[in-house]
Amino acid sequence: MPAISDPLPAPRLGEPYLLTPGPLTTAYSTKEAMLRDWGSWDADFRAMTKSLCDQLVALAGGSGGDFVCVPMQGSGSFSVEAMLGTFVPRDGKVLVLANGAYGLRAAETMRYLGRAYTLIDKGDYMPPRGDEVGAALDADPAITHVIAIHCETSSGILNPVAEISEAVYARGRKLLIDSMSAFGAIDLDVNRIRYEAMVSSANKCIEGVPGFGFVVARRTELEGCKGNCHSLALDLHAQWAYMEKTGQWRYTPPTHVVAAFLEALRLHAQEGGVPARGARYIRNRDVMVEGMRGLGFETLLKDRWLSPIIVTFFCPADPNFVFSRFYELMKDRGFIIYPGKLTVVDSFRVGCIGRMDEHVMRKVVEAAKEALAVMGVTSAAPPEAAIAERAKLAA
Ligand SMILES: *Cc1c(COP(=O)(O)O)cnc(C)c1O
Repeated sequence: MPAISDPLPAPRLGEPYLLTPGPLTTAYSTKEAMLRDWGSWDADFRAMTKSLCDQLVALAGGSGGDFVCVPMQGSGSFSVEAMLGTFVPRDGKVLVLANGAYGLRAAETMRYLGRAYTLIDKGDYMPPRGDEVGAALDADPAITHVIAIHCETSSGILNPVAEISEAVYARGRKLLIDSMSAFGAIDLDVNRIRYEAMVSSANKCIEGVPGFGFVVARRTELEGCKGNCHSLALDLHAQWAYMEKTGQWRYTPPTHVVAAFLEALRLHAQEGGVPARGARYIRNRDVMVEGMRGLGFETLLKDRWLSPIIVTFFCPADPNFVFSRFYELMKDRGFIIYPGKLTVVDSFRVGCIGRMDEHVMRKVVEAAKEALAVMGVTSAAPPEAAIAERAKLAA
């Protein structure tokens, strides 16, 4: 366990902490980096784009030009759609592994693309396991690709992508990963976990501001994707080919967001890269979860599946607990929390990512304690139905 470090500087006076999975709390210097304008064609900005791509490839463990990074304008979902539309051939078929909103969104994307797919839907939070992925692939030789969600942000579960990857490549199929909310904090080194492409965005664990996503992909795989894409603007092969030739983004880049992202990457490296970023988030989670459990709250997931990204808590059974009131009381104390996304029981989520540390997490717990007192909630214990729901989570 790392030693307790000095507190990170707080956001500016009056600015709440965002305990959300992005947009999230960013460093002051990251915001400050946006205080100038850049010409998108200028050599300075082209150098910024190249540096951004080189650093992201390095974070994914790519070396010797075997992997490339293609940034794409828009929120993360634009890049997921770009990845699926570009890497899956029109006559391909995708196995979508879903256990929450983002997996289902990937399936919805396939439906929009009009390309063949099949879905393993595990419900709100059960993890898709390697053996069932293997069985699904054995049963359907038409499947060419599998899409897995690394951290399913809707419940906060950390899915077992390593065992999924093994199952996929043991059967000669290809893996695409939505590592949107995990990349930069949780290892996704392609030398350890095999995949063809992964997607993430500026405003998650690298702690940039929203405005673009990026795909890190095996070069030979991307080279073979010309003409696959259904969309002009989202064609990653075309974006990459144009960037290779000119050093520029094909269409207007989010220049200020790129500048902020480079500063965020500088802070990421300064902190110690992926292991150190992950360690801070783990510490954030552990301090926060321990404190919340001390107040009587219970987590949806058992410790084994808890990601250091975001944690789902059951709403207390006490009739005095009203989530909208709890939210406002937390906000009054400087913390923006996140509503739950479960279909069966009431829940809320607390994010562990962003420019904050364990000192902040202790204050979060303190604020939750005060909020319960103000509402007159005597016990934060969840209802029986929630416990029954959780009992379904094996192992
Ligand atoms: C944030 C996120 C996305 C993208 O969401 P946007 O709102 O489009 O940025 C996709 N997948 C996961 C797992 C995410 O956490």
